[in-house]
Amino acid sequence: MAKPLNVLFLSSEVDPFAKTGGLADVSGALPQSIKELNHEIRIIMPCYGSINERKSKLHNMTRLREIKVPVGAKSMLANVKSSFISNNHIKVQVYFLDNPALFGRSGLYVHPETMKDYPDNDERFIFFSRGVLEVLKKMGWQPDIIHCNDWQTGLVPAYLKTIYKRDPFYKNIRTVFTIHNMAYQGVFPKSSFSKTSLPPELFSEEGLEAENNMNLLKSGLVFADTITTVSEKYAEEIRSSEEYGFGLQDVVNKRKNDLTGIINGIDYSVWNPSVDEFIPRKYDFKSIELKRENKKALLAKMGLTFDQKIPVLGIISRLADQKGFDLIREVIDEIMKLRLHFVILGTGEKPYHKMFESAAKAYPENIAVDLSFNNALAHLIEAGSDMFLMPSRYEPCGLNQLYSLKYGTVPIVRATGGLDDTIQEFNPTTGTGTGFKFKKYDSREMLQAIQRAVQMYNDPHNWKKIIKNGMAKDFSWESSAKKYLRLYRSITKK
Ligand code: ADP
Repeated sequence: MAKPLNVLFLSSEVDPFAKTGGLADVSGALPQSIKELNHEIRIIMPCYGSINERKSKLHNMTRLREIKVPVGAKSMLANVKSSFISNNHIKVQVYFLDNPALFGRSGLYVHPETMKDYPDNDERFIFFSRGVLEVLKKMGWQPDIIHCNDWQTGLVPAYLKTIYKRDPFYKNIRTVFTIHNMAYQGVFPKSSFSKTSLPPELFSEEGLEAENNMNLLKSGLVFADTITTVSEKYAEEIRSSEEYGFGLQDVVNKRKNDLTGIINGIDYSVWNPSVDEFIPRKYDFKSIELKRENKKALLAKMGLTFDQKIPVLGIISRLADQKGFDLIREVIDEIMKLRLHFVILGTGEKPYHKMFESAAKAYPENIAVDLSFNNALAHLIEAGSDMFLMPSRYEPCGLNQLYSLKYGTVPIVRATGGLDDTIQEFNPTTGTGTGFKFKKYDSREMLQAIQRAVQMYNDPHNWKKIIKNGMAKDFSWESSAKKYLRLYRSITKK
């Protein structure tokens, strides 16, 4: 039998410690599934000031203190703290790279008030990428694979192919780089490049340069041994046009033979109405009538009046251009004519805050918004809504449509990326399908999809069929974890 692998999983956010989006869900769940398949996997993430060290059971690793990390001409110090993730019987070790001056703040990437990027994000993630490699050696733990995620870790493959290349400790380490979103690239001015200490010739078209800036996502794309992204459809999209590739489509296309689409799974010990501790009434398909109790609780919480005849349409999202809210703005009055309750949880770009606030003001009996980040409310919205809207302009994988399926909440989605791969339009003649889909990025098409959903809601027999089809789907991590393992094997000698 092949030997177990040692895998280091690098991520800038990991649930339950720090989260702004789906990357945290993936980083909290996938490593557990890999460990369950009998491989050793550990995680390293930054030690943010927002992490409650007592609640998260962090402790200092006295062996790993004051490790010198070169960042340009400076030498910065890293301390390591440790904790673990354990949802089932599986326990995964998590290390936190600590430098209070760089990470001891409440935001992950942006200032929570101004919503502006921290001006030293270059130093923060150069320190993180280089710090990880320095810490590994001090720790004496030699991974076969470093699985990097998104631009924050994009320098690691470049370091391994240059500065660390000849050191026997690092020589056999292979890298996987996973793209969770092509739109976030970690772009910094040319002047930041010297802080990486990489050989000057790497600041070029073949290296980290893109439009005369340093691009850390590009670094991962160019130097990793293999690349993945989080759905098959998105893997096609990002190499075929500027619209999805955000300027790096040619770089991705060059590596198309090394690019694999692997759909994200979901952690059914966290997102599952039969065990969910955040919702007032647990249920499964056999007791689906109990979903109504959650709908009552959700409406009461949001200040709307319960009426079973009126469907609740939910949204949980980062409020960003990507997510398709301009389509909603264009047809909000028509949506409201459909007689539904609309519940929105989200935070992000200010214009969308304003837009949803004024919609709630215009329709106080039908629209309720919460413009914050609230995990408990996210669970209640999944359990208490009848339908869930994701009209994304692009969507690498998307998790909420998958959570919705499990909660018997019917997804209405645009046919892009992972949304297209995971949701099938319901066909009343054959009784197949799990939701409602529209193709073109167009508010009329979206409105028609919502109309089809509301119409079907009034046909209880078919509605129950859609719910049943969705709840029967299995998007657990196991099969995707096996695909990652096959990929790890394909690039190591073990
Ligand atoms: P993205 O990573 O692009 O934000 P995903 O659908 O992959 O989108 O993942 C989003 C994750 O973040 C989901 O777990 C979702 O429930 C969560 N989320 C997004 N916004 C909020 C919010 N305002 N409050 C609580 N959870 C949120």
